[in-house]
Amino acid sequence: MTQNTNSNGTTKISTFVLAAIYITLALSVVAIAVAIGAYYETANLEITIYLLAIGFIALSLSGYYLFQTRKHVAALKIEKPIILTAIDCKACNGIQTREFKRGDFVYKEAEKCPKCEATGTIVAIYREVKEKEKPINV
Ligand SMILES: [Zn+2]
Repeated sequence: MTQNTNSNGTTKISTFVLAAIYITLALSVVAIAVAIGAYYETANLEITIYLLAIGFIALSLSGYYLFQTRKHVAALKIEKPIILTAIDCKACNGIQTREFKRGDFVYKEAEKCPKCEATGTIVAIYREVKEKEKPINV
């Protein structure tokens, strides 16, 4: 699965916009219902067609916006970063990396070196940087 996370993360859908979309959605449904009701009561095709057109346009527009915002929110989900701990072995000058464990800190004596059995020292704790796929802008 590819995820394009925005580094700034400033885009946030306000509840106001979302409420406006939902209101438009509700009104368009009402317009369609009124259009059908008007047709049965007055048999006036002109009003019915106008109301139906308004209803469907509003419905498709709000549906489209809702779909877009959902897609946007899904794209903004943050991947859990992988934190790594680097352990330096003074005896053999080897650096081992493993996943960060609670309680790790720099200069702490870590577990034994797998090569020479000497005690290692934590020299760095960092987040693994993954090469991001660039989104294709059409
Ligand atoms: Zn070693």
